[in-house]
Amino acid sequence: MEPRSHDFKKNAALAAADEQLRQALEKAQDGFVGKRARTIDQLPEFEGLRDQGKTIRDHVLANLDFYLERYEAAVLESGGQVHWAESPAEARDIVRDICRRAGARLVIKGKSMISEEIALNEALEGDGLEVVESDLGEYILQLAKEPPSHIIAPAVHKTRSQISELFYNAHSKLGYHKKLDTVPELVNEARQVLRSRYLEADVGITGANFLIAETGSNIIVTNEGNGDLSCTLPPVHIVTASIEKVVPTLDDVSALLRLLARSATGQEITSYTTFSTGPRRDGDPDGPQEYHVVLVDNGRTRMLDDDFRDMLRCIRCGACMNHCPVYGAIGGHSYGWVYPGPMGSVLTPNFLGLKEAGDLANACTLNGRCSAVCPMKIPLPDLLREHRRRQFEARLVTRKAGLALAGWGFLARRPRLYQPLTALGMRLLASLSRRKGRLRRLPLLGAWTDTRDLPAPQGETFQNAWRRRGGRPQ
Ligand code: SF4
Repeated sequence: MEPRSHDFKKNAALAAADEQLRQALEKAQDGFVGKRARTIDQLPEFEGLRDQGKTIRDHVLANLDFYLERYEAAVLESGGQVHWAESPAEARDIVRDICRRAGARLVIKGKSMISEEIALNEALEGDGLEVVESDLGEYILQLAKEPPSHIIAPAVHKTRSQISELFYNAHSKLGYHKKLDTVPELVNEARQVLRSRYLEADVGITGANFLIAETGSNIIVTNEGNGDLSCTLPPVHIVTASIEKVVPTLDDVSALLRLLARSATGQEITSYTTFSTGPRRDGDPDGPQEYHVVLVDNGRTRMLDDDFRDMLRCIRCGACMNHCPVYGAIGGHSYGWVYPGPMGSVLTPNFLGLKEAGDLANACTLNGRCSAVCPMKIPLPDLLREHRRRQFEARLVTRKAGLALAGWGFLARRPRLYQPLTALGMRLLASLSRRKGRLRRLPLLGAWTDTRDLPAPQGETFQNAWRRRGGRPQ
């Protein structure tokens, strides 16, 4: 897989200049936003469901140790095994060890963001194993040697003709010599190529949308059915999941599934919702002989005690990125790591550190659309602001930005000084625009005016307007 650069500014500049990428993103975002809005319109209790979902997730996070132990006990009772991994390296070693003991040569995988987070494929391939992605989007990206650019639609940035080219190059040696034009043809060919791999695989690896404490089950939702085949056909099934995925009961999970499908793809329910509980039992017609769950912490316990705890409510629906104008302009690869968009901008600095990923929190207009659509009511803009605050405190901003922020902070705490100065600044900018209504270049604000004009201020300052209306909104 191509190594990713963490240089957000460079990535974003390249992506913004890629016309094909912009078209693919525009089309995808329009589709996601429209479908979500339509399906939510048809569910008057959606807001109530959001509150219920938030309450369930908050309750789990407040009692995470209890529910994880309960989940572990239920998995053991069903004949499965639970492995605890504090770090990505530990998680990789556990999975490698299971594969080694199974004498595995071929691994088939369902879509799993946590496996991206722990860089699992690279570790398994390093051991000489063949790893085949079975989710169509992930399979396309495996052929392209690219990471996912969206958490639910990993290949959203690829056009049909690019996929057709990839399939032609990869499948010609398997006897498929036709260049395909339509989506059904592409899906059908991928299905034919992948089908035998499920039967040949020694190990199936999937993620988990939820883990149910009361039954010890894991749930995956897909629209392709690839997850079911990955977890039932190979003799060994490994579930990789992060610790916060646990929910108390089947009733709780049904509420979360209603929110997830609507928020993610605008469906009332995804085509396949698969519950797996332990290995094959006597009399079962199919299922694996071994069932393992690898629970990954990777800093989440630390987040539980931090201001970022709310982020652990995330159910990975992708709605925040589907509604984000920044994601829509630059796509997921620009974010430089596994999780893109608003949720990624909060999560990535938590995993990699602000020094490595501090730009992400600043690549946000704080327009608030993400938190308005988030089914878990995660206050994403507040969390991004918290990253900015810590960045400033740790002196991780440039000297120029640090001085500007310190100056603004000084003034903002002194309204009697702030108000006349902003009024003066407004008049100055308006006169500099020389009636054009915009400014093409401004000293010290080159980063803004390099790529766009600054609209000249019009009317009065917000403070004046507020006072004139007696401190009331219009
Ligand atoms: S932060 Fe909210 S909207 Fe974004 S993926 Fe998570 S649950 Fe979905």
